[in-house]
Amino acid sequence: MSEPLAPKRHEAIFDEIFAAYGGRLYPAPPFFARSLEVDRTALVYWVRRVKTALDVMRLPEIYFDYLSSGSVNAVASETLGYGYIGLTWGAIAVLGDLFFRMLSHPDVLPFIGNSSGEALDESLKDGISLDATSFQARRRGDTDPRQNQVWATVPKDPLRCHFARLCGRAATDFLILHELAHIGYGHLRYLKANFDAPFLVELEALTSSTLGQITRQALEMNADAFAASAGLTGFLEYRQKWINDLPELDSLIGDEPKAIFVWAFGVGALFSIFSPTFDINSLTTQSHLPPSIRLEGSVKCGLDACARAYPKTKDLLESGSLNLLHLGHALSCIGHRLEPSVVSDYQAARRDPRLDAHVKRVLRRFKELKPDLKPYSYFDLENGNPQDEVC
Ligand SMILES: [Zn+2]
Repeated sequence: MSEPLAPKRHEAIFDEIFAAYGGRLYPAPPFFARSLEVDRTALVYWVRRVKTALDVMRLPEIYFDYLSSGSVNAVASETLGYGYIGLTWGAIAVLGDLFFRMLSHPDVLPFIGNSSGEALDESLKDGISLDATSFQARRRGDTDPRQNQVWATVPKDPLRCHFARLCGRAATDFLILHELAHIGYGHLRYLKANFDAPFLVELEALTSSTLGQITRQALEMNADAFAASAGLTGFLEYRQKWINDLPELDSLIGDEPKAIFVWAFGVGALFSIFSPTFDINSLTTQSHLPPSIRLEGSVKCGLDACARAYPKTKDLLESGSLNLLHLGHALSCIGHRLEPSVVSDYQAARRDPRLDAHVKRVLRRFKELKPDLKPYSYFDLENGNPQDEVC
């Protein structure tokens, strides 16, 4: 294991290796610095938890920081024996803005808190923007007194505000854990050795051979499976601490089915900010499976892991109590409307038997890959807890 490095040295390395993605965000905009710090402590928590739970003390030291970009993206790298995870500040801003606007609308999840007192300004029903720089500028303007506030709106009802924050927590944790999995399962070292590809950038299609892309998709699926299973089981375990700090949270996350609904709503929104539709003919040329398909797999994986720890949650998906139609409704309430052609294209692609065949091919590839990954992995690929199989 490498010796601990001085923080200044890590900052410089981070800035250099991720220069193409905006480099290190410094200084953080003062109005946003506090929100960013909350997520930084989450990474520290997850690394400690994963090291203890998986008994993988040899996981390299991991340095986390923000990228100076308003887009939604995340990157991971392993350099000189250290892990580096970067998240764009745009990811935090886009997700926070999304959940606060949703819960500020009286028709969204009306059974949470007192929804009748909410009102969402027409100007904030502007759908989803994947570029925080432009929407922040649009919302604040130069003379707006809200310039020093992070969020354009916050739900009036405290419970709805908590719900929005918990969704943001679940979504951001998913992103962080996904990157942590790329380091933990040795994906980065494996790709570097076999494909000379040192970075994993989440939202960028790499042009490569079909085998390279199927391999990449298999690794992404593995990272999603980890992020979902570790994220949801961690969310369920950690909630007692949140309830101790704020007893009113008991009505939101006091029992497992309710807490799972919050988590699935948050993670579901993360994937739903991207178009659900995809081209069935170009599945093999992408670095990731389509977001809508990743969401299905992740929710299923999270629930499978959770059912092992909490057996009574086993049939949640079938029982209908995890109704994610609420999410589609919430998205439409903030002005995110899918064109009917997008919906019908998605439905046709989703039904196409070639999708199922492709997903099976990616799963097979992951099974084949396991022995090759083994020398690079810090986690146990065979008996891995929390997840040894891709769902
Ligand atoms: Zn990834």
